[in-house]
Amino acid sequence: MTAGLVPSHLFYQSRLRRPTIARAEGVYIWDVEGRRYLDGSSGAMVSNIGHSNPRVLEAMREQMNRATFGYRLHFENEPAEQLASVIADLCPGDLDRVFFVSGGSEATETAIKLARSHKLAVGETTRWKVISRAPSYHGCTLGALAVSSYDPLTEPFAPMMREMPKVPAPRCYLDRDGLDPEQAGLRYAEMLRDRILAEGPESVLAFMMEPVGGATTGALVAPDSYYRRTREICDEFGILLIYDEVMTGVGRTGRFLAAEHWDAMPDIVALAKGFGAGYAPLGAVVAPQRIIEPVLDAGGFAHGFTYAGNPLACAAGLAVTREIVAHDLMGNTARIGDLLKAGMEGLMARFPFIGDVRGKGLLLAFELVADRQTMAPLPAHLDAYVRLVDIAYERGLIIYSRRTRGGREGDHFMVCPPMISDENHVDEILGKLTESLQVLEAQLN
Ligand code: PLP
Repeated sequence: MTAGLVPSHLFYQSRLRRPTIARAEGVYIWDVEGRRYLDGSSGAMVSNIGHSNPRVLEAMREQMNRATFGYRLHFENEPAEQLASVIADLCPGDLDRVFFVSGGSEATETAIKLARSHKLAVGETTRWKVISRAPSYHGCTLGALAVSSYDPLTEPFAPMMREMPKVPAPRCYLDRDGLDPEQAGLRYAEMLRDRILAEGPESVLAFMMEPVGGATTGALVAPDSYYRRTREICDEFGILLIYDEVMTGVGRTGRFLAAEHWDAMPDIVALAKGFGAGYAPLGAVVAPQRIIEPVLDAGGFAHGFTYAGNPLACAAGLAVTREIVAHDLMGNTARIGDLLKAGMEGLMARFPFIGDVRGKGLLLAFELVADRQTMAPLPAHLDAYVRLVDIAYERGLIIYSRRTRGGREGDHFMVCPPMISDENHVDEILGKLTESLQVLEAQLN
């Protein structure tokens, strides 16, 4: 799996080195030694329309021949204007104003600052606290990290951040108190209300959440009642509801926004990952006019990144979005997602250490446990979350894993192939997953 600890001037999280990528096409990636991998997690839930899409590459080439960059304070550019208008059409309700950024952390930072700027503009100056969930991940920059909760990533930097209030993520599958799902969803939503009251409602700016949990909770979907009630609670106290759809947005759950699955629209949405889909660094914040206009009237949004709205990234995003619509990739995601999820549920019958299968569309995950009755995690020292990924990697399947209980223990695995996947890819994923789980089972016994 690893090509050894080769010395290099390049570094990321650790010294671990992976094989070098040679080329990629559709749902497959080849390394320089000729090994083929099925990209079962779309990288980090990014390559939503698959690799090397010829129409996206052509659109980028065309734009490169015209202009790769025009600074936004000097020039407008057509790809940015067109993309903003396509996004406004695809987003539900009144979400029709688009602010471009280059990635997820920039998007969530921007969403928070936009919320604050809006409340300042309308005279609600005491509001600054952003309540979010534990665990959660909203990005690695200090502002985004302050609203995240995942020990290995947040703890080292805690003294440098302004602590933001947290409420428990609605991990109802761990609760053993006999509540039906709708009651359980309401109970978690009421924790938000309690927290708002404890903080002082006039100090609370926003509640931010991933509508379907990503890396830290593994495709966590809350009961329907949770979404409806959190919206009501935000309205009760004049608090803005921010959906971090960096992972869930742009079709990954079978709808353009995951928010569309519930009757509870957010005030501000952050997008990234599948927006540029691996072709260009691209993200956006989308909000309605009622949020934006007061900010512009009050002198403007004091915020922006140099690469924001650059024509090349926007040309890529435009071509990606067109591809999703033209080929009904959202419909395919819903259909293939159901098939893959059913297959993963089938694996639960075979492997007693799979404790839960969850998710929506092609944002799916399963969690390993020591005991399905109690949902006790596997002993942390087994590092199952690393082992299974490595075993699958050796068999040519890429999946994505994290510790699931706040970062210190528990093992979940995200199975999120590109939205272009078909039945054959599902069979290949399930076959390789079965083999990999058999190997892990032998190691655990
Ligand atoms: N928000 C969510 C929900 C994410 O999953 C991520 C990345 O994994 C981010 C924000 C940060 O995005 P980026 O890594 O593009 O900065």
